[in-house]
Amino acid sequence: MQDRFQRQINYLRISLTDRCNLRCVYCMPAEGVQWLPHKEILTIEEVAAVVEAGVQVGIRKVRLTGGEPLVRRGIIDLIKRLNGIPEIDDIALTTNGMLLGDMAGDLKAAGLKRVNVSLDTLDPARFHSVTRCGDLNLVLRSINTALDYGLEPVKINTVAMRGFNDDELVDLARLTLEKPLHVRFIELMPIGTSDDWSHIKFISSQEIRELITGTLGNLEDEKKIPGSGPARYCRLSGAPGTIGFISAMSNHFCATCNRLRLTASGQLRPCLFSGREVDLKQVLRAGAGPDELAHIFQKAILSKPDSHDLAASWQKDDRIMSQIGG
Ligand code: SAM
Ligand code: SF4
Repeated sequence: MQDRFQRQINYLRISLTDRCNLRCVYCMPAEGVQWLPHKEILTIEEVAAVVEAGVQVGIRKVRLTGGEPLVRRGIIDLIKRLNGIPEIDDIALTTNGMLLGDMAGDLKAAGLKRVNVSLDTLDPARFHSVTRCGDLNLVLRSINTALDYGLEPVKINTVAMRGFNDDELVDLARLTLEKPLHVRFIELMPIGTSDDWSHIKFISSQEIRELITGTLGNLEDEKKIPGSGPARYCRLSGAPGTIGFISAMSNHFCATCNRLRLTASGQLRPCLFSGREVDLKQVLRAGAGPDELAHIFQKAILSKPDSHDLAASWQKDDRIMSQIGG
């Protein structure tokens, strides 16, 4: 279905949980956040019912995220159910990679098509410090396992931060010369726990690009790769993988945004950066059928703002990315 600004909305990002097994410094406080009570979180059956309703208004792609989606019990069952909906042609997952190595086979068999793995550094001590408890080797192994199982394209999400990983961005880009990985550099956003320092840590996509080309040579523009969304892709000469830039701050991609978000607590959110939400859970639990739910989807799509203006006015939201669904 089209929204008021002629954008075709066909993509639903689903937060399966607000919980996580890591505590990345830009995303969550060290002590975690006040987790949602279990009864507030949509059940697996409810999530599947929401997607079935979304299909009626044109949803064709889903991404499972969180929090950390792989800590959510029932995720394999959910993927099987989503895979059984004929209109859904793409099921993807965004994960921190800690549990992916062990689960990749089951995820693939259930119908998962592809994964994005978050990886901000190749240095084990830095990895441990930015995630506050993560194990880099485990994540690197998971990335290889995902490639082995053909969960492709395997994309790497790297949040660029001055004074933290700016000296490693070239090394991360170099991964694309070695393996068919798609390394995407994400501009740090003033959301989550990053708002107090993201001004000083922020590095623009343009600067990252210059760092990479300065050392590794020219980047050639790349045609779209599956599920390319807001990233702009290019390739180093002869590389099996690509490099992407997600410029949410310096050059926002609102004009082509095709997505809605479903929060773990069952709210449909038309834009990550706007507090606007439509309550699906309440109607769902009141016994609404697919048509009524589809009507709520229509309402959410029609309330999608034309753009966010995060860079100009940093909006304060009560919730952080892991709660809304990153
Ligand atoms: N736990 C999973 C993971 O880390 O991939 C999925 C959820 S996480 C919120 C999704 C993505 O959001 C991650 O790639 C993470 O790096 C990114 N993210 C979180 N906070 C961010 C911020 N303030 N600015 C930019 N990206 C952020
Ligand atoms: Fe967890 Fe992902 Fe947030 Fe890191 S970015 S704390 S892995 S939800």
